[in-house]
Amino acid sequence: MDTTPTLINITRATVSKIGSVDFENLTFGNVFTDHMLACEYSNGAWQAPVIKPYEPFMIDPSAKVFHYGQAIFEGMKAYKDEHDDVWLFRPDENYDRFNKSAARLAMPEVPENIFIGGLKALLNIEREWVKKGKGNSLYIRPFMIATGSGVIAAPSTQYRFMIILSPARSYYSGEVKVIIAEHYSRAANGGIGAAKAAGNYSAQFYPTKLANEQGFQQIIWTDDATHTRLEEAGTMNVFFRINDTLYTAPTSERILDGVTRKSIIELAARENIPVEVRPVLVSEIVAAAENGTLKEIFGAGTAAVINPICGFSYKGKYYELPVSEDTFAAELKEKLTNIQYKLAEDTFGWTVKV
Ligand SMILES: *Cc1c(COP(=O)(O)O)cnc(C)c1O
Repeated sequence: MDTTPTLINITRATVSKIGSVDFENLTFGNVFTDHMLACEYSNGAWQAPVIKPYEPFMIDPSAKVFHYGQAIFEGMKAYKDEHDDVWLFRPDENYDRFNKSAARLAMPEVPENIFIGGLKALLNIEREWVKKGKGNSLYIRPFMIATGSGVIAAPSTQYRFMIILSPARSYYSGEVKVIIAEHYSRAANGGIGAAKAAGNYSAQFYPTKLANEQGFQQIIWTDDATHTRLEEAGTMNVFFRINDTLYTAPTSERILDGVTRKSIIELAARENIPVEVRPVLVSEIVAAAENGTLKEIFGAGTAAVINPICGFSYKGKYYELPVSEDTFAAELKEKLTNIQYKLAEDTFGWTVKV
């Protein structure tokens, strides 16, 4: 595979912002590094990518992204080990998923030397922004938007691919109580739920706002047709522990194929934690909560890695989960992050040096 970014034109920022950043008190996704990568698609081809100072840019008000929502993204992280080497975690998975999202939204695929090669070149320039120490990381946000002008409802012929970087600390979200969706849906069969499309997020904001007003932080999404199957927790995949077995739904047109989810499934198998990938019914989780066999629920995604859920509401009744020191969530998070930070041997070959 050719990941050499041969044609990247680099314009360096004259001054770095890094001295003014308080790395101890970062809120997620608010601060960006000195440089960004941009690459234009026009006349049926990707042009040469450029790395330049992070800055706003102009697009025509009639650009298709504003009117028809042709916009996709990825979320990844870079980590620094004790020897100052910078590592990515399964970047090929994000690359493949990005192009699947692109295809679903009738957008052009991005070549590997631009996505992976461009990312490595950008990270090389921003190495200082990747801080050592467990919990510190550099959040990577590749995205693509339709920049072609004209309000006719048809796919754009011009696109912009970009990568921006944001320093992050491990975040503790506080207690997460969730509500199981009985009416709203984030995705439907035949829709774009399996793509990392911007529109999937805007579709979630209103129902999530209603949940927040009732004192819940997130929604557990159910299948749109029957609302009987548990599918995702907010913008994360979701796992349930009944007795000592983990359950998670198979990916589908409604469920995003998360890198964290698939890594947890493989890691749990290695650690002899039984995992069953099969549809998870609302009724069985309610029954398990009632008879005391439901031990844990947690969300899984790149930003928070694993996010424990302390209770859920269904049909107006609240079910509290038991509090335990000894959870699969804590054990799997520790083992997974140790691999990401090169503190444990990567027996899977998941980590890639920048
Ligand atoms: C990004 C995302 C996830 C998590 O995917 P990771 O690859 O683990 O970060 C899960 N669900 C949805 C809806 C997402 O957008």
